[in-house]
Amino acid sequence: MFHVKQFEVIVIGGGHAGAEAAAASARLGANTALITIKAAGIGVMSCNPAIGGLGKGHLVREIDALDGIMGIAGDRAGIQFRLLNRSKGPAVQGPRAQADRKIYRSEIQRLLAAQPGLTVIEGEVTELLLRAGRVEGVQLADGAAIFARSVVLTAGTFLNGIMHFGDKSRPGGRIGDAASVRLAEQLGALDLRRGRLKTGTPPRLDGRKIDWQALEMQPGDADPVMFSFLNLTPQARQVSCGITHTNAQTHDIVRQNLNRSAMYGGHIEGLGPRYCPSIEDKVVRFAEKPSHQVFLEPEGLDDDTVYPNGISTSLPADVQQQYVQTIAGLEHAVILQPGYAIEYDFFDPRGLMPSLQLKSLPGLYFAGQINGTTGYEEAAAQGLVAGLNAASAAKDLPEISFSRSESYIGVMLDDLTSRGVTEPYRMFTSRAEFRLTLRADNADQRLTPLGLHLGCVSQLRRDRFEQKMAAIDSITSALNEKAYSPNQLADAGITSSFDGVRRSALQLLSFSNVTNAQISALVPEFAAVDATIRQQVATDALYAQYAVRQGNEARALKNDEGKLIPGSFDYKALRGLSSELLLKLQDTRPANLAQAAKIEGMTPAALTLILMRLRKTQRSIAV
Ligand code: FAD
Repeated sequence: MFHVKQFEVIVIGGGHAGAEAAAASARLGANTALITIKAAGIGVMSCNPAIGGLGKGHLVREIDALDGIMGIAGDRAGIQFRLLNRSKGPAVQGPRAQADRKIYRSEIQRLLAAQPGLTVIEGEVTELLLRAGRVEGVQLADGAAIFARSVVLTAGTFLNGIMHFGDKSRPGGRIGDAASVRLAEQLGALDLRRGRLKTGTPPRLDGRKIDWQALEMQPGDADPVMFSFLNLTPQARQVSCGITHTNAQTHDIVRQNLNRSAMYGGHIEGLGPRYCPSIEDKVVRFAEKPSHQVFLEPEGLDDDTVYPNGISTSLPADVQQQYVQTIAGLEHAVILQPGYAIEYDFFDPRGLMPSLQLKSLPGLYFAGQINGTTGYEEAAAQGLVAGLNAASAAKDLPEISFSRSESYIGVMLDDLTSRGVTEPYRMFTSRAEFRLTLRADNADQRLTPLGLHLGCVSQLRRDRFEQKMAAIDSITSALNEKAYSPNQLADAGITSSFDGVRRSALQLLSFSNVTNAQISALVPEFAAVDATIRQQVATDALYAQYAVRQGNEARALKNDEGKLIPGSFDYKALRGLSSELLLKLQDTRPANLAQAAKIEGMTPAALTLILMRLRKTQRSIAV
């Protein structure tokens, strides 16, 4: 029985990109359909049961600032919260949580079900319907045609997906799911640059057979930091993770069986994520290291499955069993699900506009793993952008853009669409030239005003945000109005320079030798405000002084784009350059800084190192 339906936006896929895209599109008021192969699989975490981390936590906060769903679901499902880089400055701190898989999935499904204007349709999209050079809908495997003005494709690892278990392989989108082959065939026939990438996952272990007593345990933070600006405390029971290590025996077994690994046995052509190496990669690439850390992460509160983070693999199941049992605490471990690698199609993101719409096929947007990224957070952030833009275009409204200076989302969009990818792209704080101002703590200040302007933010978030900003503005002006001479400061126990200049309480807040308690003693209103507001004002004051320097550095790079780099330039002499960038720079030998900036993975810090060196060399020639 064929039926025809009409929506404003269709989102294909219910992974992290699809869920966020559909929610964003519907929040913007577009009548939206989310079509996915298995409705029960919406919100599934294909690999690790965790959200956030360095750079990734920033993306979750930015998604939340625009009223997205990942942060809210992550808070609801979080069973262990840790703020990574806690001992470093707030700019590089990344919120992360271990998640209960089932709670996360059901929370995503609950949030989508509660979203007005959103219909979930179960079915496999086998074809995009094209007419007059643009997309006008999709065809499902059962013959149904569904039409829309914009279509967002978020097929993840499913397009021509092949799962590898050692030397055996079979088609699949991930364990338990079929690959999407017919749609991949149609996309392959379009004039798009396509490639293959791969990723892998570790075996899952039975937690009842792990000797937890023998292991070091890592609890969550005593004062957990949430993802969502709407939440203050965890909602689920909190648990600890175990920590263990691989050893020489583990490595010997892996080394002896490398020819049986899908990756090293030559069965996989695609490149894997550099920053998430498999155990085979670790043993080969870091042969000098006698051991590697393995986190034993519970997959849920009422689930005995444990995710051994750090030993993803494409070795056969019998070898996995052997090497796992060499690890302390895992001597009697039982594998519930062997690890495997998956290879899939992705499309060159340089074929996309920053809105994630295809340049060559109006009306079609790509988001998530299909664009060569890796990770839930990267996928969700792209889903948000594609969903907002698809809805905006369907309503004949302008494109919604994100700049590098305002968000990590903007950094990712620019990196992807201007530099492309040859290996899975993941977010790092080092990718952002404006990282001192792009902090996780101020994502709402940077992006919620945009959400309010677009109309994709709930009344609850609007109220909370406006209250928070009113409190910040009021105490900031109070601190700015009060100024003190060096003598007055000395009386308050604060050492300042002897230049005789009066300093406002706001300026004093940015001094590393001045505590919040000392400011509270000077300005009683500061003591009276909520602790989170106090902290926010202090962090904003601290970073305000760096914003100018950061802007100057970014401008210097821009102004010196044309600076020539001699062919003999010695990249090895640059201290602090990563080995990845050293190899790429030596290989490509860019003619100038602009060309160097286009190298995949290039960071602003690396460009500054080159620029400084060029200036130094020129100075010494001039002398
Ligand atoms: P997915 O989460 O894959 O979702 C795709 C969705 O599209 C699914 O709902 C699917 O049903 C649907 N779909 C596909 N085709 C169709 C169709 N034709 N019609 C209708 N619906 C369709 N990430 C890391 O960061 N680190 C890792 O170590 C890592 N390891 C991984 C290991 C494995 C084995 C797998 C499978 C994934 C791994 N990932 C890893 C990747 C992580 O799962 C993705 O980054 C993330 O899930 C991408 O989200 P997505 O929304 O783009 O795609």
